[in-house]
Amino acid sequence: MRILPCVLTVAGSDSGGGAGIQADLKTMLALGVHGMSVLTAVTAQNSVGVQGAWDLPVEAVRAQYRSVVDDIGVQAVKTGMLSSAELVEAVAELLAGTDAPVVVDPVGVSKHGDPLLATSALESVRTKLLPTATVATPNLDEVAQLTGVRVESEAGLRRAAGALLEFGPRWVLVKGGHLPGDAVDLLTDGTEEHWLRAPRHDNRHTHGTGCTLASAIASGLAKGLDVPQAVSAAKEYVTEAIAAGFALGAGIGPVDHGW
Ligand code: PLP
Repeated sequence: MRILPCVLTVAGSDSGGGAGIQADLKTMLALGVHGMSVLTAVTAQNSVGVQGAWDLPVEAVRAQYRSVVDDIGVQAVKTGMLSSAELVEAVAELLAGTDAPVVVDPVGVSKHGDPLLATSALESVRTKLLPTATVATPNLDEVAQLTGVRVESEAGLRRAAGALLEFGPRWVLVKGGHLPGDAVDLLTDGTEEHWLRAPRHDNRHTHGTGCTLASAIASGLAKGLDVPQAVSAAKEYVTEAIAAGFALGAGIGPVDHGW
């Protein structure tokens, strides 16, 4: 009998299938773990942007989580779009009770500039959600929103990571992909530093990159990798997924999980 590690994503739906829950489950399938989902919000979304978004009731989020955890169990959890302060706080409370590693992707704004988290929820992310994280995976916009630190060069990644660690995640992966040049990220727990570098692929079809990376980290952790190993494997996976990203619709197409 096959026993697969079980990974849970707590995130929003992207109707276009490029990001959110859909990207998470595709990543998990590709990486050989059993993917499960707690849906927090539904977006009407395609390659040109987010046309609408609706939150699920907090009770629906709690009930999905309990159904999964109480029967099936989880070896790792990943969080994505949480939308409101109420949802952030409910999810943080649930995660405070788990022994499984938690990857927090503090999703703020989509590549098209559509808000996926209310600004009134930022303080709950800082004080309630980040302390539950085994690894937090902010991009530079999210770092700026959460800490006020603006990074303009590789040297700034260390300061950004330090500011985020103050909120209590065990590790921080600051993603420098929006800087010019190679895609450089810094993973640190405040003691160790791991610099991850990948060549920049000249491909605009990168929708779902952040969701894919965080889900790949959670999948690695569920398989028993330690944090630096899981992050390094996930970076390789997402780099290939970006290289293979493809055009769909009139705008930004998705990264490809099936290469
Ligand atoms: N839609 C949902 C539901 C998401 O969770 C995310 C990112 O986490 C996005 C859209 C944005 O994806 P991207 O910024 O890669 O376009």
